[in-house]
Amino acid sequence: VFNFSSGPAVLPESVLRQAAEEMLDWHGSGMSVMEMSHRGPQFMAILDEAQSLFRELLGVPDDYRTLFLQGGAIGEMAIVPMNLLGAKTSIDFVNTGTWSSKAMSEAGRYARINEVASSAATAFDRIPAFETWRLDPDAAYVHICSNETIGGVEYHWTPDTGDVPLVADVSSNILSAPLDVTKFGLLYGGAQKNVGPAGLTLVVVRDDLLGRALPITPCAFDFAQQSDNGSMLNTPPTYAIYIAGLVFRWLKAQGGLVAIEALNLRKAGLLYDTIDASGGFYVNPVAVADRSLMNVPFRLPDARLDAPFLAEAEALGMVQLKGHRSVGGMRASIYNAMPVEGVQRLVDHMLDFARRHG
Ligand code: PLP
Repeated sequence: VFNFSSGPAVLPESVLRQAAEEMLDWHGSGMSVMEMSHRGPQFMAILDEAQSLFRELLGVPDDYRTLFLQGGAIGEMAIVPMNLLGAKTSIDFVNTGTWSSKAMSEAGRYARINEVASSAATAFDRIPAFETWRLDPDAAYVHICSNETIGGVEYHWTPDTGDVPLVADVSSNILSAPLDVTKFGLLYGGAQKNVGPAGLTLVVVRDDLLGRALPITPCAFDFAQQSDNGSMLNTPPTYAIYIAGLVFRWLKAQGGLVAIEALNLRKAGLLYDTIDASGGFYVNPVAVADRSLMNVPFRLPDARLDAPFLAEAEALGMVQLKGHRSVGGMRASIYNAMPVEGVQRLVDHMLDFARRHG
């Protein structure tokens, strides 16, 4: 089937086949990766390769640490303020939907939250224009969500926040296109969309932001301590790191982020063109410039058509297209590992369905 889940999501088939082959006996070790000590030479080699491929793919400069942690993106929404607040008392947030709102409520337990811009008034259908952001030069950092997985709203530009570090939740678009890491103080994200299985959390943090964790910060979530210990202060999510390493290899073989972005643009273009040419049968409410390349929500003209649309899609081998319960309709998540053929099949179904019901 073609799996359009928003995450945990589709992974490259070749990666899963290799993992299946190596499941019981990794490279003649007689062990599954799941059974290895995280400090043994075999797993250390897996971790080192995953780390260096991740840095190479994303172009992480030498003055940034890359941490492979547990806790998920929602965990990071609390862990990041604990680590970056230092002597500051407030954080600037740009609110573009469900996940930025969640980040605000989590951080609100540790700091004063300053909503510097919001698209709530237009039902989170866009990224607020940078000129309207009321940034505070004294904020600990500015937080954005680079891709709102539920609303399907994505930054296709990077704000310049000057001396105040920019922090982004990149859970649902990391490694989908080139990113200039130097414009950010910190990036964080769960792995379960573009990177690998749930359980692995990625943090990329600039060196100068380390070492200011609040005393209440658990050691497992203190970035400086984790950095000093090579993400091994506690047991890292070993199997998820192994799969992520295979995904990184796959992504490099695809031609890296420039090549995958071209493919992602093609896939998203197929869907948005179909929606926009449907004469209003399918509707995507997001401002054209801010439409997500990863998550494409769309509504049908009558919610009573949702069930037949989904049932027919499933019969045609397309699953997990139901939209998030908070917005309804459909959502096609088309992460890196979704082949063009999957999107083409969905477009064919959409055209055929609209012909019969339009
Ligand atoms: N942030 C974004 C943008 C997401 O899409 C998700 C999705 O699940 C989360 C945060 C929550 O991540 P987790 O469930 O890994 O904590």
